Amino acid sequence: MNVLTGVLSDLERVLLSAEDIRARVESLAAQIERDYTGKLITVAALMDGALFFVADLLRQVDLPVHLVTLGASSYHGGTQSSGEVRLQWPPDVSFAGQHVLLLDDILDTGLTLSALHKRIAEEKPASLRTGVLLNKKRPRAHDCPLDYCGFEIADEFVVGYGMDYQGRFRNLPCIGILNP
Ligand code: 5GP
Ligand code: MG
Repeated sequence: MNVLTGVLSDLERVLLSAEDIRARVESLAAQIERDYTGKLITVAALMDGALFFVADLLRQVDLPVHLVTLGASSYHGGTQSSGEVRLQWPPDVSFAGQHVLLLDDILDTGLTLSALHKRIAEEKPASLRTGVLLNKKRPRAHDCPLDYCGFEIADEFVVGYGMDYQGRFRNLPCIGILNP
């Protein structure tokens, strides 16, 4: 067993254990499977944060899936959103006529997801839904419809399970709060 003792010692506390995450991702996958029965899903996954969430989720969805990875960043190395989102949009991607499921790791100010939602909607998909593993309970500056949500959490900066601080901690199997 790999306990990642070195990296885990940087955490003040664990918010969600690997088992908490596994169980919730499994139930989200079941919900998505029911909702998209008979359809091909085009998953638009925001890298790098949603990498682990999307990998675990999609391996449990027993439906045909197209995976498109998109890049968006707003933190630029800090622990607070800069208020400006940079999109990396592959030149050859089109969502026209597809059932698009936009997935990200965490919804904070809503800037990232709302920007991506708007951009994908311009492509005239057949349907467009959104999902995040974590939803921070805070006043939202940017409104975005949310269809799937793993957990509601308090307004704190979290790391692990794909989420980083200055590029580190993505490989933590749990989600936690860093030592001050
Ligand atoms: P928003 O645009 O909603 O303010 O922020 C969403 C993006 O910011 C997410 O894709 C994620 O990359 C990053 N983010 C937001 N909150 C956190 C957090 O608590 N921890 C980490 N590591 N990233 C976060
Ligand atoms: Mg992100």
